[in-house]
Amino acid sequence: MNTACSACGTQLALADVIYDEQGNVHCQGCLSLAQTETAKKQSASRVLSVAYSGPVIGLVSFVFNPWGLLSVAAIGNGIYVLRSLKESDTAQKIGSKAEKAKVGAIAGIVLGAISGLLFGLSFFTKLLH
Ligand SMILES: [Zn+2]
Repeated sequence: MNTACSACGTQLALADVIYDEQGNVHCQGCLSLAQTETAKKQSASRVLSVAYSGPVIGLVSFVFNPWGLLSVAAIGNGIYVLRSLKESDTAQKIGSKAEKAKVGAIAGIVLGAISGLLFGLSFFTKLLH
């Protein structure tokens, strides 16, 4: 029976053997390292999907913007993405898509700001009439 860690090759006592989702043998150290990597990848892909949905929310906010909430959401999305991209780990995982994510984030912020402004204007116009 193979009880060597598949990542670092350390021979493990049977009690210390841990199997990952693929059935590979891992020691505790390598498994938690792998899990950290997976978590980082997941958070990077979440940042990407938020980055791409920002401009979409921004566009939708021009036609459907209850209480200006979608403007706020589009701006918030963009800020979240720009902040996440400042973390070198996340930026590294996103890699070549970081530029696209940045463009998406800024587009979302700009669209949200414009629709928010329009919402504010129409709100005050209604108040004045
Ligand atoms: Zn190991």
